[in-house]
Order: sequence, then C-alpha cells, then structure tokens
Amino acid sequence: MSTPRPRFATVVFDVDSTLADIEGIDWLAQQRDETIARECADLTARAMAGEIPIDAVYVRRLQAIAPTATELDALGDAYRRAIVPGAAALIASLQQAGVIVHLVSGGLRAAILPLAIECGILPAHVHAVDVRVDDQATYTQLDGPQPLATQAGKAMVLAALQVPRPSVIIGDGATDAAARPSVDAFIAYTGVARRDAVVAAADAEAPDYTVLRSLLFESVD
Ligand SMILES: [Mg+2]
Repeated sequence: MSTPRPRFATVVFDVDSTLADIEGIDWLAQQRDETIARECADLTARAMAGEIPIDAVYVRRLQAIAPTATELDALGDAYRRAIVPGAAALIASLQQAGVIVHLVSGGLRAAILPLAIECGILPAHVHAVDVRVDDQATYTQLDGPQPLATQAGKAMVLAALQVPRPSVIIGDGATDAAARPSVDAFIAYTGVARRDAVVAAADAEAPDYTVLRSLLFESVD
C-alpha cells in the first residue's frame, strides 16, 4: 500500500466547532441562567459570522459568565468528549507523516489542553487565551495582552510562529478566515457550523473529516 503524501508542511486547527463540536464560551454560559446563555451564544454567533469583532465581545462574555476553576476543568472534560469523529485520527496521520500541527484558538487555553493531549498535540503547540483569577475566585480577566482574544489575533500569532510552509489553517469562523494572509491556504470546516461569508473566503470547504483528509493528503499510486 502506498503512503499518502501530505500537501502541507504545517496544519493549523481551530478548536471550537472545528476539532470539537462545542463552543467553549457558550458551554460555560449554559452553566448560567438562560438569559446569559442566550446573550453569549448570540454574541459568539455574530462574532464568528464577522458581524462584530471578537475583541468587542470577549471580555463582555467572560464577565457575564464569571467561570470558576471547577467550571474550567469541567469545560476541559466537555471539550475532550466533544472531539469530532475522525479528528484525532487525522492529527495522528499528519504527525506520522512529519507534518507540524498547531492549535490556534480564541478559546481558553486551560480548558483546551486536555483535548490537545488527547489528540497528541504538544502543549507548546497550543495557542489560546490565558485568563487569570480575580478576587471573587472567578476568571473574568485576560492574563496580560492576549492577541487571540482579538479579530486579527490568529494572523498575528501565525506570522510570529514562522511555521514551515506551505501551511494551511482549518476553521469555521471569521477569525480563521482573517488568518489567511499568514498562511498558504484556508479550509473552511463546515461539519459543525456553516457560515456563507467564511466559506466564501476559503480556498476549499470540508463538510467532514473524510473530505478534510483528502484535502490534506495527495493519494500516491
Ligand atoms: Mg471555531
């Protein structure tokens, strides 16, 4: 049997609604009352559709939810349980083929790490948002400047990483599409959420991980 050849030297994955079929911040909001849950889900959806910049909603959502350390741990478990079928196997295949894999996420780093470990990704390759505890023992504040809590954050982080090329980013949101100038291709993953504006900005669309695999490997006869 021939070995499929990877098309990219670096593959960058979004996490929420791409590797996992949840939005972490919305999951946290659902631990609160219905008003907060609905408000946060609406803000997330509008930000991911590109209607409002993520910068404007990030801290607003955190302060509305005020998650505790226990809830961040529980979110870590929820992310692990929500890994999209085929995602971990695809990441394993990429890494076996020598492809560098990074996660670049606007989610909370502490909660994403368990999913990354489950998928065999080094913590040093997990780029996300760090938050810090406040005097109410909740996590409502960014821990210093957090580029990934901003609209242009993924492009900035990827440019600074100087990953091996060619590189591709895979995601479902406007912040993933906005990272296109820092990589060589953007694949819209639409298996969880499909947004026309995001698909329009993409080089290709993957509705599931089987199609995604075929976009990341060339079959060698
Ligand atoms: Mg996403």
